[in-house]
Amino acid sequence: MRVNEIFYSLQGEGFFTGTAAVFIRLSGCNLRCSFCDTDHEAGCEMSAQEIADTILPYPTRHAVITGGEPGLQLSDRLVNLLHSLGYFIQVETNGTRELPEGIDWITCSPKYAPVVLRRVDELKVVYEGKQSLAALMAAKSTIPAKHLSVQPCHTPDPERNAEILAECIDFVKANPEWRLSLQTHKLLNIP
Ligand code: SF4
Repeated sequence: MRVNEIFYSLQGEGFFTGTAAVFIRLSGCNLRCSFCDTDHEAGCEMSAQEIADTILPYPTRHAVITGGEPGLQLSDRLVNLLHSLGYFIQVETNGTRELPEGIDWITCSPKYAPVVLRRVDELKVVYEGKQSLAALMAAKSTIPAKHLSVQPCHTPDPERNAEILAECIDFVKANPEWRLSLQTHKLLNIP
């Protein structure tokens, strides 16, 4: 697998916000979202065993496999190895690729491409403005999920960000089955 970076931090977004986790960022993505702020292209080849050896010294057993799009590379071998070592495996995906069996928690953030996953644990939709409302409701009706999150898109314009946040809050108040997800790692300035 081509790995962009491995680091230890707190989960900044979604259901597990605040949870200590080791992040395994796999390189590359099949989409090109205009708001993508993740530098995921660079990387080096690592075997499943090398990845496990790298993360084992960290005290957490919550592993977040992210990207890019992890579904392009994630192998049964890595999932089985991490489970054998006691890890809870969370995958963050755009949902356009099938994933190995047995992942403990799938967080799906659909973008502008069809989602092929039939089950996810958490649907986390990025809100870019009022045009996102239809996408939110469409995602909810087509992708079964136990937890629904809406996350304000971060733009370079502070005024626009304030508008987007206010619209997200209004949306959650009107649709309380959704909850607000904030990119708390950016607010707290942690990696
Ligand atoms: S799916 Fe995610 S990683 Fe891929 S381009 Fe879009 S925002 Fe970036």
